[in-house]
Amino acid sequence: MTKISTFLALLILGIFFSVTSVQAKATFITIGTGGITGVYYPTGAAIAKMVNKKKKEHKIRAVVESTGGSVFNINAIIAGDIEFGVVQSDRQFQAMNGMAEWKDSGPLTELRAVFSIHPEAVTLVAAADTGIKTIRDLKGKRVNIGNLGSGHRQNAIDALNAAGIDPQQDIQASSSKALDASATLQDQEIDAFFYTVGHPSDAIREATSGTRKVIFIDITDIDKLLHSVPYYTKTSIPVTMYPGAVNEHDIKTFGVKATLVTSADISDDIVYTVTKSIFENFEDFKKLHPTFGALTKKSMLTGLSAPIHPGALKYYKEAGLQ
Ligand code: GLU
Repeated sequence: MTKISTFLALLILGIFFSVTSVQAKATFITIGTGGITGVYYPTGAAIAKMVNKKKKEHKIRAVVESTGGSVFNINAIIAGDIEFGVVQSDRQFQAMNGMAEWKDSGPLTELRAVFSIHPEAVTLVAAADTGIKTIRDLKGKRVNIGNLGSGHRQNAIDALNAAGIDPQQDIQASSSKALDASATLQDQEIDAFFYTVGHPSDAIREATSGTRKVIFIDITDIDKLLHSVPYYTKTSIPVTMYPGAVNEHDIKTFGVKATLVTSADISDDIVYTVTKSIFENFEDFKKLHPTFGALTKKSMLTGLSAPIHPGALKYYKEAGLQ
């Protein structure tokens, strides 16, 4: 062989090996969640754990990212920054219909549903020493309604409006992340905070186990609100989950569902694999967080307002769920 043909042979061999090694490399998918003391973060981790069980076979590897919450996740999916996100069912509906934060952008028609997960309750936590006993007592108080990327911010605004409180005029509203809310409450920097979250959650455990005693506030004047939108339902928070709170009875409020969403741009193969990984390891998945206890495969196909991604649909048809 001449020097040139040896060089060419090596070059071809090199290209061959680099192509095959690229083919063997895993495809990474990122799941956007919420603050690490919420339930989205462990939910994303549970989904990733199920997907990664067979990563050597399907070559898809899931990683989890802590984010500002539902609104951030939806926007990051549409921007192509992340592949999946855990988001509130009401925010899925609003994004699909160009409402709330998406009024100016119009409907996000690329958004796709995968499945729904645990129930989330709009949770209002107040420091007991403030004397706040009802939502109306929030007038004049320092209340964290949530960061801009969160799902719960709009729930807080809806709850306040339903109680005749103008969030801009009648309270001193702050916009911190839920991750910081319990520390700021304990440090006397705020009087109360809203968080739409599954129970039990570490964030609420932290808030109820500090030296400053806290009370959950019922949110009950909501019949008109619940009739005016399709995505809210009445729910309650079992008081036994938080022995540190001063409440004696379960807390009445309203809620939504956590859901997994993606974009129409994500391949059927990836979404099929993610869906199958959860449904075929269902009992293992349910053990990964107490809020998953009541889940059934059928219940995970409810509460979705975006079209179901064809990759997920393929699995649901195969499994006889659709
Ligand atoms: N529901 C909250 C949100 O959408 C997140 C709750 C959680 O992280 O568990 O921002």
